[in-house]
Amino acid sequence: MTTGFLGAADHFGYVDLLSEAEKTVLTRLRCFLQDEAEPVLADHWERGETPLFLRDRLAGLDLVDPAEVRGAGESVRPLFLGFRNLEFSRVDGSLAILFGGQAGMFRTVVATGGSEQQLASWDEDIASFRMTGCFALTEPDHGSDIARGVQTEARRDGDGWVLNGAKRWIGNAAFSEYVAVAAKDADDGQVKVFLARADDPGLDITKIEGKTSLRMVHNADIGLRDVRVPETHRLQRINSFADLNRAFETLRPDVVWNATGLQLGLYETVLEYTRKREQFGRPIGGILAGHFGDRIGRKRMLVLSLYLMGGATVLIGLIPTYESIGLWAPALLTVLRLVQGLGVGAEWGGAVTMAVEHAPADKRSL
Ligand SMILES: Cc1cc2nc3c(=O)[nH]c(=O)nc-3n(C[C@H](O)[C@H](O)[C@H](O)COP(=O)(O)OP(=O)(O)OC[C@H]3O[C@@H](n4cnc5c(N)ncnc54)[C@H](O)[C@@H]3O)c2cc1C
Repeated sequence: MTTGFLGAADHFGYVDLLSEAEKTVLTRLRCFLQDEAEPVLADHWERGETPLFLRDRLAGLDLVDPAEVRGAGESVRPLFLGFRNLEFSRVDGSLAILFGGQAGMFRTVVATGGSEQQLASWDEDIASFRMTGCFALTEPDHGSDIARGVQTEARRDGDGWVLNGAKRWIGNAAFSEYVAVAAKDADDGQVKVFLARADDPGLDITKIEGKTSLRMVHNADIGLRDVRVPETHRLQRINSFADLNRAFETLRPDVVWNATGLQLGLYETVLEYTRKREQFGRPIGGILAGHFGDRIGRKRMLVLSLYLMGGATVLIGLIPTYESIGLWAPALLTVLRLVQGLGVGAEWGGAVTMAVEHAPADKRSL
């Protein structure tokens, strides 16, 4: 399972870009998601509840700075982080946020904005989930335009700050110890980030009910009324929204990997279904081949499917590189993979149908 663990969906062989150590960690994640997460997801989805106990299990899987990767003398690469997101979203987008809200978003914001001293105190605890947190940027009246729209205000008061305002859609807030609040400094008008404790007086967290998408993610409205945060809990290297943007440079690609993972999961589900689901005497994935098989004959159709598969496979080997023909290379590869898909679908469906139809009646099934 360590090689080719993306299976039939990895048409471009991206898994080969990963090191053996990275594949081992991702395989561990895959096994966990299949064996422990998948069985409980449907029930939690129905109830709109986060399967929080999975976060504790995930914390123990050593996925943040894995020993295997360090042991191989490698560092954690963006490619590995991308595949990690993909793997989560392949199974469930909500789980990606349960893990990523802590290990991705909260940790990245603190790592980007914290001073050396702050990082020395917090980073290890955040990576191991001993210090849990979420990141509160979005507000009720400002989402896409938040860069210029932060209304939550921070006012300097002695050796600390006083926060007032409101945040919305904040993922994981209800079960995080800290809320990293982005607020505008009333003096210089610049955005700064403050680690408030979720149980601080004046900080009020309310679950947003009635969601359908990402239903298991606990999103919250957060009210801040004279919440006091010491200067020691202000991230020292974030003194403007531009500073915060450095965190997004790492976090934005996560969203793309998540979207890719969701599509991968959908593709795998559809593929499996069309292979197994039988209607009109054949798997629905073989309907096309079956239709033409009825018209031109099963044997001819089977031979044609072999040609499609063989021809496309040979041509894939002859595609020039990206350096030689640019975007035509992936475009041709995609078209030929589609032809291969038609070939394999027809071959498999046709072969099964022929085998069943030509078998003696008493040997057609178990
Ligand atoms: C599951 C979930 C978890 C989240 N977790 C967090 C979190 O932990 N912390 C946090 O701070 N926020 C979080 N958010 C909030 C998220 O960042 C915002 O939802 C996002 O920024 C979009 O803002 P909005 O929902 O207000 O949409 P809007 O800004 O109202 O946008 C609505 C639609 O209009 C489109 N649109 C907006 N402006 C334009 C334009 N100029 N041109 C064309 N189209 C446009 C958008 O693409 C979108 O499709 C979360 C949201 C969700 C759904």
